[in-house]
Amino acid sequence: MTDQELNNILSMSNLSVRLQNLSESATIAMSAKARELKSKGVDVISLSLGEPDFKTPEYIQEAAKNAIDSGDYFAYPPVPGYADLRETIAKKFREQNNLKSSANNIVVSTGAKQSIANVMLSLVDPGDEVIILSPYWVSYSDIVKVAEGKPVMVSGSLENDFKANASQLEEAISDKTKLMIFSSPCNPTGSVFSKEELEAMAKVLNKYPDIMVISDEIYEHINFSGKHYSIGALPGMQDRTITVNGVSKAFAMTGWRIGFITAPEWVAKACSKIQGQFTSGASSISQRAALAALEGDLSPTREMADEYLARRNMVYDLLQDIPGVKSYMPGGAFYFFPDVSSFFGSSDGERTIENATDMSMYLLEKYQVSVVTGEAFGAPNCIGLSYAASREQLVEALSRIKTAFSKLE
Ligand code: PLP
Repeated sequence: MTDQELNNILSMSNLSVRLQNLSESATIAMSAKARELKSKGVDVISLSLGEPDFKTPEYIQEAAKNAIDSGDYFAYPPVPGYADLRETIAKKFREQNNLKSSANNIVVSTGAKQSIANVMLSLVDPGDEVIILSPYWVSYSDIVKVAEGKPVMVSGSLENDFKANASQLEEAISDKTKLMIFSSPCNPTGSVFSKEELEAMAKVLNKYPDIMVISDEIYEHINFSGKHYSIGALPGMQDRTITVNGVSKAFAMTGWRIGFITAPEWVAKACSKIQGQFTSGASSISQRAALAALEGDLSPTREMADEYLARRNMVYDLLQDIPGVKSYMPGGAFYFFPDVSSFFGSSDGERTIENATDMSMYLLEKYQVSVVTGEAFGAPNCIGLSYAASREQLVEALSRIKTAFSKLE
């Protein structure tokens, strides 16, 4: 069954309006398409998913094996996470992020994605507005919609490295604003908010004490632009910031599915209540692995970050060499988000590229490189590429992209 046929059936069926309003995650959809082509023997290079291409470090694998061998971790774990893991996470937030945190503030979930969904469902009532700094991670707006809230986008532009600023934020605030959410380092742009930029936002937010903030810091350790700052540590922000993090990106543990928050205790309790009804505690063995990850030093993380930095510099040079592509130097994460709008309206003689979605399809179907359309991230002039791929693959992918663009006139 094609996607179109499936969508037709979905729209005719008895599914809830909530579900029908939900988009499929664009990054997951693009990766599924790339996988399907690969399974047919097509040589696809996938730059569409935010997935480290490293293996989980061995000491973490060992901790999981030991947890299984001990026989002590086969029962339901506590809903908000094992006590020792929550203590360790709270310590991490205190020491690395300058946040006031203790085990009571921590909820461990099945990935940062669930952490964010828990918070949204705990705080957002139908009709509440949630400010999303844009370009934004694909799932934010759909999670807001599941909670029946209204996403309000505040957009940065390529000229300021895609970072929305404090006065734009203030303009977007209304008496319905409940929450603001953003990521730094950011997916999809790789931009990192500086301390000054966060302070300016906190200054605005301090005029509106009822607005809560979700600060998604999942790429904290993949930061090439100096120190990482948490908005929750700034004056006035501690009691209304939920800081989200996890082990997926820093420790190459996407499949283990462990994310966590530190939040004011009333929010942590609410998240635990929701999680208790939906999924219960996160996988026991994965929690033991996450504990080992967080107790270890950060040397494997730093090694991975060094490699990402080398790739970032390489991809930047390769992008600079492609006429018509506008880019900037991302300060963290592992993404580029170039503007390809100069090609809109052009054709290779067979198909016309009207927008970023056409462009990503053109690159996949004719040049076997999978990227994501910026439309899914609130930036219709851009395409998103992840450089969590080997240097060889990146060189080959960028060469294919260069050829693909050179055919467009
Ligand atoms: N937040 C951002 C900005 C992400 O890019 C991702 C994953 O791509 C997540 C959260 C989800 O992470 P997890 O694997 O912990 O669910």
